[in-house]
Amino acid sequence: MARYSRQELLPDIGLEGQHRIASAKVLIVGVGALGCGAADLLARAGVGTLRIVDRDVVELTNLQRQVLFDQADAEACRPKALAAAERLKEINPEIRVEPCIEDVRPENILSLSNDCDLILDGLDNFETRYLINDVAVKTGLPYIYAGAIGTEGLVMPILPKSGGSGSITWPESEATPCLRCVFPEPPSPGSSPTCDTAGILGPTIGTVAAHQSAIAMSLLVGRLEQTDRSLHTMDPWNGINRRMATGDPRSDCPCCEKKHFEWLDGNRISSTDSICGREVVQIRPRTDGSVDLLALRTHLKNAGDVRGDTHAVQVDIQECDVRMTIFEDGRALVGVSDISLARTLYDRYIGA
Ligand SMILES: [Zn+2]
Repeated sequence: MARYSRQELLPDIGLEGQHRIASAKVLIVGVGALGCGAADLLARAGVGTLRIVDRDVVELTNLQRQVLFDQADAEACRPKALAAAERLKEINPEIRVEPCIEDVRPENILSLSNDCDLILDGLDNFETRYLINDVAVKTGLPYIYAGAIGTEGLVMPILPKSGGSGSITWPESEATPCLRCVFPEPPSPGSSPTCDTAGILGPTIGTVAAHQSAIAMSLLVGRLEQTDRSLHTMDPWNGINRRMATGDPRSDCPCCEKKHFEWLDGNRISSTDSICGREVVQIRPRTDGSVDLLALRTHLKNAGDVRGDTHAVQVDIQECDVRMTIFEDGRALVGVSDISLARTLYDRYIGA
């Protein structure tokens, strides 16, 4: 056990904590920047099983911040889940790594999270985050929500009221608000910048992924009370570090109080269809509000040529030579034939 001797020396971990870490199974949803950073740290720490899910392939633009991938992965367009799994096995052959090349959807998320102890957020879109929140609340799994954009990131662990179903349990008095208690609705499509329109600093990813991993390890060794449960924002570029207490779960929360799992039930998940005879996929998000096309045009100005009016915006994305048209209601036409790729591009450039 020489491999883990330095972390076993920490009084909070010790031999017993190391055994708990070794018997744990963690689901990492998305192995982009945050997922790579967290998977790297958790594999080195000896988490017994890492199940990593991702729908994308490695691209050259990922290498600046996605620490498990290299030039050869990008040149070969390797699926991220596979490339990450191979790298993690080289880092630590003693652990089990389960790669899943899948788009996380209401149909598969329960089987993916089944038998896991904790879910870690490596996502790039809000729709899937609200789906994961539904699953965490429904099944009682801790969910470590995180995100990063520009030079700033945030982490917020969610310990649902149901009290834990895997190896990590807690009394209801220790439960935290869920994602919907804090952010009742996801931002409307196109309302916020994304990493692909506003950029992202590599060290910010390192900071956020490290914080997520520390919280995961802390929960896995049963160090419940001392775990940072705040909404913690961090910006290493400007030296900012803020903790905001999130209080108790909201008594009128549609998810953790009323148990309405709108994303898991499929009612809030966007639909996609290929348009026959054309190399175009149509994406229809389930959103109530309309898209702020003016803000969207500003976000997209770095991505390529943008034109349009108050009813639709069209962009020719320079990097991948794909045309995308977005309408007021959030509906988009993406100029590719592959549905999964269309979703990826929508999440990257429009953001939902
Ligand atoms: Zn809630």
